Amino acid sequence: MSINEKSRAYGAQKSSIREISAYAGARKAQIGAEKVFDFSLGNPSVPAPDAVRASIERALALPATQLHGYTPASGLPSVREAVAASLSRRFGEGTAAAGDLYLTCGAAASLSITFNAVVNDGDEVIVIAPYFPEYRVWIETSGATCVEVLADPKTFQVDVEAVAAAITPRTKAVVINSPNNPVGSVYSRANLEALASALREACSRLGTQIYLVADEPYREITYGAEVPWVPGVYDRTIVCYSYSKSLSLPGERIGWVLVPPTNPEHDDLLLAVAGAGRKLGFVCAPALFQRVLADCVDCPSDVEAYARNRSALTEGLARLGYEFIEPQGAFYLWVKALEPDAEKFFERARELELLPVPSDSFGCPGWVRVGYCVPYETIVNSMPAWEKLAASYR
Ligand code: PLP
Repeated sequence: MSINEKSRAYGAQKSSIREISAYAGARKAQIGAEKVFDFSLGNPSVPAPDAVRASIERALALPATQLHGYTPASGLPSVREAVAASLSRRFGEGTAAAGDLYLTCGAAASLSITFNAVVNDGDEVIVIAPYFPEYRVWIETSGATCVEVLADPKTFQVDVEAVAAAITPRTKAVVINSPNNPVGSVYSRANLEALASALREACSRLGTQIYLVADEPYREITYGAEVPWVPGVYDRTIVCYSYSKSLSLPGERIGWVLVPPTNPEHDDLLLAVAGAGRKLGFVCAPALFQRVLADCVDCPSDVEAYARNRSALTEGLARLGYEFIEPQGAFYLWVKALEPDAEKFFERARELELLPVPSDSFGCPGWVRVGYCVPYETIVNSMPAWEKLAASYR
């Protein structure tokens, strides 16, 4: 065949999350939405803040050629300035300057750009399993090999010894995602510091540079846990961010890559980020939503609805005897399957119209992810089905 076989294979590969979500849509049409308990997709159930709408309305008053015109490839300077100022207010003076930021079409583009900016063919990138499945696609298409390292099986914090053991002279980056999808864990400062010193030790022993890629779309969605600022712990950090979750704007595709000024390769990395954006065609993020950022960068995330869902779900499932990891952030609950094969457990759940995502798609057997970014009623009304599911294993 004359077309690109690798790309064709990625197109043909099924995403479990998308498949289950499509099944949920079809099933709802068949039997009624209220009878299907769809916990598959990470689509925020909280509406975007009113300030977003107000900002869009203000922007609509601009002359059309300006409103819809190209911006610089890396984004409008005034917007990057607003984002940088916000980061410096939150994480300390000098955290970021406008020139350290490259605006993107969401975290997907931020991560693709970052991998393309740092890896050479044959390099390795370590991910902490369970992990967001698209990481593998973005890593492999950048020319690197995706190396899975399981998280600590009890706490789901980074297993630092396992990461250290997986590092080779080809290791170019380690990706961390905290608050975590799919587990809901938040990596503690002590865990991140231990990881940072293992990376520093490996870099000096091997004479290499290993970057820590901090994927942080859930940074603001937490239930009291501290989310340490990763560049403050490890200087070779690159931060990937999006407003998909914090401002509930997943369809608008807006986020950024930050190369912190403390990164020793800062200037070259920034050029590589711009070059990767150019190479991938990821230039000039959506202009309207760049402008929205300038107005809404400090809007707090509405975490209350997720907190309420989280309580209802964890209290309900605990009462029924399910084991799970107490989520400290994001909007996912990681529940132990009631048999070793998570796919089989999922099939049994599906018969009761319960639709979580089996853990195999996240690179880890034996669990399911229950996305609780859903209406509160979905959680409450799903409890009898969870009860039947547990009873079917007794
Ligand atoms: N990283 C993680 C951990 C995610 O959960 C997601 C989306 O769900 C992304 C990246 C991609 O985010 P975006 O929609 O901003 O591209």
